[in-house]
Parts: sequence; C-alpha cells; structure tokens
Amino acid sequence: MGTSVLQIDLGALADNWRALDKLSSEAVETAAVVKADAYGLGVAKAARALMKAGVKKFFVAAAEEGVTLRQAVGPTPWIGVFSGHMAGDTDMIGDMNLVPMLNSLDQITRHFEALPGAPFGIQLDTGMNRLGLEAAEWDAVKALVLKANPDLIMSHLACSDEPDHPMNAQQLAAFRAMTDGVRVPRALSATGGLLLGPDYHFDLVRPGIGLYGGFPYEDGKPVVKLECPVIQTRDVMPGETVGYSNSWTADVPSRIATVSAGYADGITRLISNKAVLFDGSIPCPLVGRVSMDLITVDITHLDHVPHALDLLCAHQTPDDLATIGQTIGYEILTSLGARYHRRYIG
Ligand SMILES: *Cc1c(COP(=O)(O)O)cnc(C)c1O
Repeated sequence: MGTSVLQIDLGALADNWRALDKLSSEAVETAAVVKADAYGLGVAKAARALMKAGVKKFFVAAAEEGVTLRQAVGPTPWIGVFSGHMAGDTDMIGDMNLVPMLNSLDQITRHFEALPGAPFGIQLDTGMNRLGLEAAEWDAVKALVLKANPDLIMSHLACSDEPDHPMNAQQLAAFRAMTDGVRVPRALSATGGLLLGPDYHFDLVRPGIGLYGGFPYEDGKPVVKLECPVIQTRDVMPGETVGYSNSWTADVPSRIATVSAGYADGITRLISNKAVLFDGSIPCPLVGRVSMDLITVDITHLDHVPHALDLLCAHQTPDDLATIGQTIGYEILTSLGARYHRRYIG
C-alpha cells in the first residue's frame, strides 16, 4: 500500500467515554462532541461506537455536520448544534431534528419564526466573547425564551485546561448569576471543565478531546495510530544531504528510509528535523524537511528494514507531536489527511 494507514481504535474511544462518564455523578449526563468529523477520526464510525457505549446526546459545530451525523446514528439521539440557527439552516434543522444552541437575538427570532415549537437550546456568553447571549441580552429575552421550554442552557469555558486559572471561577460565577433558579438543564463544561470537578458539571457535560485520548484528559487511552509505509531505502555517505534545501547532512554513513506521508496529509512542516518515527518501540529520527507526500527517516541503527514506521502510536501521541510542532493535539487530529487508509478496530 502506498498510503499511510490511520488506525482508529473504537474500543478505546468507547472506553474513554465510559471513563469520563464515571467522573461525574449519575445525575449528570455525559454527551459526546463529534464536530469536525469526530476530530478527524470519522464521525459515522465514531458516533455509532459511542452510541453503543451509551451516548444519547451529541454535539456538532454546524447544521451540515448534524445532517451527516443524523444519517449515521438514526432518529433517536439528540443532536445539538453549537453555531445555532443560521440563515439557510432551517430545512436541515427541521428535517433532521437538530437542536440549535441559539446564540443571539437574531437567531432566537429566526428559530421561533421559522420553526415554531421546534426544540432549541440557548448559549450564554460568560466571558469568552465568542458565542452566546451576553447578560443584558439574556435579561431582555429570558422570560420569552423560558416560556418556549429550551432543552438546555449552556456556556463555554475559555481556560479550563488550566485548573488554577482565575477565569474558571469567574465564568462559573457569571453562569450561575445568569441561570440560578432557572428550571432548565444546564451545561458549562467540555473536557477541561469536567476535570475541574462537580461544581462545573451542572446537568450535562460535553467532552470532545478527552474521548479521542487528548490533553487535558491525561488518563485517556490512545485512539489513533498512524503507520507510514517505507517506500524506499538508501545508504548515504558522510557529507551527503537529504531532502529539500539540503536541511540535513549525514555525518556518518547512514541508512535513510523514505515513507509515504507529508504535509498534504496534515503533517506540519514544523516537525522537520525534530520528530521521530517509531519501529515498534525504537525511535528513528525524522531527517530533512517534511515534503508534500514524503518524509525521510534515519534508520541506521535498525538491524532490518521495517515495512512501515509509526508517526503516531502509544510512544508518540497527538499531544507529543503537537508539542514538537508548536500546536495542540486538537489541531494534529483535525488535520489528519483524507489520503490515509482508515482502519477501524475494536
Ligand atoms: C469543541 C467544544 C466542546 C468540546 O471541547 P473539548 O475541549 O474538545 O472537550 C464543548 N463545547 C463547545 C462549545 C465546543 O466548542
């Protein structure tokens, strides 16, 4: 095979959901965030595995993603849409029974006029200044909105992956001030907030990255493995260079393996000359620049030529690679390329 194999462990995904579900009391519902094609892993397969594990509520970013998800999971699960009800979304929301988290007075008006009686949630802004109604807007429409029976009132934390950040308590207080006494289920926390403890759980938590084995959920099982097939090997002499711009020079006789995967597959060029690939548990340095379709690796120290080298595996998680590439695990996962052959196990 000439393309890399992205192995996705649906059993580990389900185990991560179950483990996150146990971190809150039984009264708290644990939803699953599967936006961006389940963080790049394939929403149909991921959502069906999560459903089998017990997930009853999903969230996506946009109505279009909700349509794809509905087709994969059938009529029963509840599907929330973070971006709310945008112009042009009405048919998708109505036909696919999606639940928009309404973010503004415009969206509330649009939803109530276009789909009277249809389910909805409300998103409040508690300081992140990204999505949701601000306190004054909420005050103005609260009575009207509550009369229409929202499914959920939610907000989102800006700094929940830093437990000691004062913003967490500030947003918690703002959320309480806006919603205490309101008899509607409430949700504040994604993965980070869930880990902050019960004060942050309210009625529903909505982890995303933790399901996929990423920071800040450090006890998660690895879900992805990326195996890059070795296409060719060659021996180079001291003084010879490898790859574009001659950015690596051999100082001893070296054996170089060229593997299939590159920046067109979402592998950032920032890991050039920095990351390693693994032959089982043996690290092999990536040498030279990551190019569009190919990566070159120093395998001089191996006593055999491997069929493939792993860029992501138990020894190098998406978070590890993110650190090397100056990004975050979320971006590594959601950049995983369309060319990979996806193999689902578990
Ligand atoms: C992406 C997102 C989540 C999930 O966040 P993680 O950090 O991946 O757990 C939850 N809520 C909202 C509003 C989001 O945008």
